[in-house]
Amino acid sequence: MRIAVISDIHANLVALERVLAYIDTLAVDALWCLGDVVGYGPEPGACVERIRARATVCLLGNHDAAVVGRLPLEGFNPVARAAILWQREHLSQEHMAWLASLSPRWENPRVTLVHGSPRHPLWEYVDNQRTAAANYEAFTTPLALIGHSHLALAWRLHKNRRVRASLEGSEPGTSMPLDLSDKWLLNPGSVGQPRDRDPRAALAVLDFDALTWTWYRLDYDIEAVEQAILAAGLPQVLGRRLYLGW
Ligand code: ZN
Repeated sequence: MRIAVISDIHANLVALERVLAYIDTLAVDALWCLGDVVGYGPEPGACVERIRARATVCLLGNHDAAVVGRLPLEGFNPVARAAILWQREHLSQEHMAWLASLSPRWENPRVTLVHGSPRHPLWEYVDNQRTAAANYEAFTTPLALIGHSHLALAWRLHKNRRVRASLEGSEPGTSMPLDLSDKWLLNPGSVGQPRDRDPRAALAVLDFDALTWTWYRLDYDIEAVEQAILAAGLPQVLGRRLYLGW
């Protein structure tokens, strides 16, 4: 069983279509999305359509929750808030209802899926070793898939709370073996707004037979997205940041 894992699309349809086309070449059995289909970008409805049609599991992200009124806007910066308000006006009732039906956590006996972290599925960022270690007891499966930070990362958690980041120095396309005697927090990175200073769209493949995690980065037409952001009247910075991967 091979699963394509994506997260944090943020209404970036150009990046999403590039990623979905690439996934078509990977011979996977399913697609899982870890949330934040909407927020920030100019094409929320089309992204909801694509994910609803393709993903077997899709979680609720904090931006998805805010768009449908399940999280207050006060926790978001002014630029994020402006995009959330714009998207509320541009999503259909049907798309809003679908987003509202999602949950920020899903699990089966082998793997836990959360948008943020296992202990705070909607809002905690796992972007440092201490936070990764603090989540050790918050999930019972050997693997947990996380999004939200927009960073392609893998944390290997030992029982004694020693933590190791495991993608350091490796290149996209590299398969990392998963030793299930430890626990893992695996983040595929962001499709639509990477923040690890690599502007390319991110995805990963979890292979349950080979027990590997393989991460990928893909170039896409950022200029087309910037134009759509400007045409929509969304804040300019939302386009500019895509070039920086930040
Ligand atoms: Zn996000």
